[in-house]
Amino acid sequence: MPIFVKDLLDAKGRDVVTVSPDVTIAEAAKTLNHHKIGAVVVVDAKGAIKGIFTERDMVRAIAGKGAASLEEKVSGAMTKNVIRCQETSTTDQLMEIMTGGRFRHLPVEDNGKIAGIISIGDVVKARIGEVEAEAEQIKAYIAG
Ligand code: AMP
Repeated sequence: MPIFVKDLLDAKGRDVVTVSPDVTIAEAAKTLNHHKIGAVVVVDAKGAIKGIFTERDMVRAIAGKGAASLEEKVSGAMTKNVIRCQETSTTDQLMEIMTGGRFRHLPVEDNGKIAGIISIGDVVKARIGEVEAEAEQIKAYIAG
């Protein structure tokens, strides 16, 4: 039985930390640090997804322009083409997308609206749970 994104969201919640495209990279860093997360979804005033900004983007900006980049807007440093998933996506599909795209965050979209976010940590946690449950079943089968 595959694990679906819906199962992950039911367990972890559907809150997504967002910022506006106009916040500075320094402000986005504070948001990431405050929530202890690695990515924020960048949305406009109507809530439409405009991009994703992660720790990696911040490192790239600072490596390129130094401390001055901290006062620049996230809109210049974010990734605009955001790959998303659905509640019906499976963890296998997520791992393929994340590995193929070399990123660790996937916003969930439902009817054009942002409906959650899955990190690679969420996927790993779910897979470990699955492997442990399988091992328990095998042990019970052998013992029985
Ligand atoms: P991450 O590994 O998630 O920190 O992201 C590595 C790079 O991929 C950064 O440049 C991010 O902006 C970008 N990125 C992260 N998640 C996504 C996504 N779902 N769609 C497109 N790009 C992304």
